[in-house]
Parts: sequence; structure tokens; C-alpha cells
Amino acid sequence: MGLKVCKFGGTSMADGNVILRSASIVQADNERRYVVVSAPGKRFSGDIKVTDLLYACSDAADAKDMEAFEKTFDKIRVRFLNIEKEIGKNIGIEEGMAETKAAILNGAGRDYCASRGEYFAARIMATVLDVPFVDATEFIRFDKDGILDEITFELGAKIFEKYPRAVVPGFYGLGADGKVKTFSRGGGDISGAIVARSVMASLYENWTDVSGFYACDPRIVNSPKSISELSYQELRELSYMGANVLHSESIFPVRSAGIPIRICNTFRPEDAGTYIVKTSTRDVRENVVTGIAGKKGFTSITLEKSLMNAEVGFVQKVLSVIGRYGISFEHLPSGIDTMSLVIDNEFLKEISLETLMQEMREAVAADKIYAHENIALVATVGHGMAKNVGTSARLFKALSDAGINVNMIDQGSSELNIIVGVENEDCSDCIRAIYDEFFK
Ligand code: ASP
Repeated sequence: MGLKVCKFGGTSMADGNVILRSASIVQADNERRYVVVSAPGKRFSGDIKVTDLLYACSDAADAKDMEAFEKTFDKIRVRFLNIEKEIGKNIGIEEGMAETKAAILNGAGRDYCASRGEYFAARIMATVLDVPFVDATEFIRFDKDGILDEITFELGAKIFEKYPRAVVPGFYGLGADGKVKTFSRGGGDISGAIVARSVMASLYENWTDVSGFYACDPRIVNSPKSISELSYQELRELSYMGANVLHSESIFPVRSAGIPIRICNTFRPEDAGTYIVKTSTRDVRENVVTGIAGKKGFTSITLEKSLMNAEVGFVQKVLSVIGRYGISFEHLPSGIDTMSLVIDNEFLKEISLETLMQEMREAVAADKIYAHENIALVATVGHGMAKNVGTSARLFKALSDAGINVNMIDQGSSELNIIVGVENEDCSDCIRAIYDEFFK
């Protein structure tokens, strides 16, 4: 018999009725033995996710703004009390909320506060399904650098041996300092993958509000083709570049064990969804491109210096400047006497672009240095690209026909992707042009 781990995202946990629907999905298949949940998400457009309310509570507590704290905390309390009412079972929300409030005000920390959405959601789901609740702090561990500790899988395997069925809160674990620590946003998907690997599941089902991955963002192209199967590598490229169906780090726990992931729609459970597997079986002759994704908000810094090619250690000096500020780069296209660094604008919140450029210029005595702000990166991804001659020619012709100016090109050596840099405002047109070329 197979063993499945199901992870339900925020929209599948948004209110009592949706939670009952999610629970019935679990009960419909006896192989669905472990359930991981997110905090209640948006019920309608304009609604606020519980996690966002919790972050607002933490900010208000830090700022000692008690009025804002009480108001926001009460919204969360009422939301969970309503869920308790809707599912018609006593979960002890009122008492739990009072304890949580005291802990936050006693300085339990931002991550602890943010984690409570998942904690209560899991307790609710465990009661509905009548299976044990296993807290994530019992096995998900982070090391002192905040990286997931490998011991997690051993601890997980041991604990789940005792529980043939369980519900686990997503998004958090225990830090090296003994305090609750969360993953980055959307990290419940990683928790689901950790449980799948701990129990060596035959399938990791990720239940969300879309029927899998599309060849591109449906907000950009009307009804794009859906993708029936993706490889782990393709998924990583697409989700890193902004296809936000699944957290981009979710594949790491399951990849080495070869556990497939299936993206399923809680609101259309009969849809096939997308399977994410080690090696895609899609016909690469027919499917040249698997998907296209884009992300805005990058800056490219270009340095020019005569005889740069012969200067030993040039790149290293430039990288040591960004390294000092904890900045990582996305791409590093180079010419004989020029090199560019493409970095995420998020990093430029901490340090000004001018200071960074000044330090780089001094570090390598550059002849010239200039920046191009507001760049979007668009990735065209697919194993089929390496097998089909003329793919990049088709892509660049499509962009030129659409009048889109490309200011950076990077093709990974595995030929799994072609990334182009365009102006932020051209991002959607760029995706549309590539989609039309390869999918219409
Ligand atoms: N609740 C968290 C968030 O909103 C984690 C998750 O949903 O996976 O980011």
C-alpha cells in the first residue's frame, strides 16, 4: 500500500467549511495518512491572511502600540472562534488564544507569533480528522545558521513510527536557540516535503487553489496550457522565477528520495493536476518549452576596464564587495573587458546603490561603472530546448517582432533555461510573446 502526505495551503484552510472539505479529501483515500496544514488564508479577495495578521500583531507588540495589538489580535481570535463554531467541535480556542497572547506579550518572538496560525489550524484539523496532532518543533530542527538540520529526517522518521496517522503544522520548527523558528513565507510547502521524506511517502500531495502549474501566469495569458508533468529541476527554475504555486525550496527534501509531488486543487479534486518527478516523461520533440516565468525588480551593475580579461582576481574583488553586505547575485554576464552583476533590488534596501558602486569602482579601479535599474528577468524553461535546434532563434525573433528590447541574456549550461533581462514594464509582453511562439 502507498503512503501519501497531504499538505493543505491557506485557501484550503480559510474557514470551517473549507476545512471540512479538505478533511473529506483526506478521508476519501486511506493512503492519505499524514496531513500538513497552513494557517487560514484569504477567504475572498481583499481578505487578510492569518499569518499577515500575526506579523502585524508582532510589530504592534514590538512598537508597544497596545491599541493596534489588541485590535489585530482580536481579529485572529474571532477568526479561529468562528472556525471552531463552523466545524461544531470544541478545540479550546479561547484558552489557547489567551495563552498565545500572554506568550507574545512576554517576548516569545516574531517567529513564534507568526507560527501560531499553523499551530491552531493543525489542532483544528487533527480534531476534525480525529487523529493525533504532532508539533513540528518535535522534529523539524534548524542549525545555528538557520539552515534546516539533517537530523530532522531521523527525528521525523522516529516520531512517525509511533503515529501511523498525524496532523502537523507547517511553516515552522525549532531553532538552535530552542525557540520556534519559521521558514520563509510559503514555507508550509517545505514542511510537507519534510514529512514526506521522513515517512518515505510514495506521493506528496500539495493541495492548493489551482489545478497545477500552467505554462505561464494565467493573469498574463488567458487560459494558458496546463503542465501535466514537470521535472524537479524545471520546477525549481520556474518557481524561483516567480511561478508561485509551490515554494521553490520544497523539492530539496523529496528529490534525493525520488518522491513525486502532485499539485492538486481542493476545489476541483477531480482534476489531474501537475506531477513533479525526477525525470519528465513528456515528449521533448512536442514540448520544446515547458513553462515561462518572470520576476520584476532587479538591477544590473556593469563594470568596464581595459584588459579586464587578463587581470587575475578581478571578479573575486567585485564579489567580495557584495559579499561584505551579504548580497548574492542572480547572474554574472561578462564580455572581454566588461562584466555585469544582476542583483535583486531587495538587497538595495539595506545599502544604497551609489555606495555599492563606489566601493566596486575602488576595489578594481574600474574605468567605468553604471547601473541599469528596473529590470525584469524572464525565464523560458524546458528540457526540450536542448534537443530542438533553433529554439533560441525562435525566442529572440519573437521578442524582436514584439518590439521588446533585451538587455541581458543568460543561458544555463545545462540548456534547461534561457533567461532574458527586459525593462520591468515589458515583462508581461515578453512572457506573452514567448508563449505565443511556443504554445500557439
Ligand atoms: N502561513 C505561511 C505564509 O502565509 C506559510 C504557508 O502558508 O505556507 O507564508
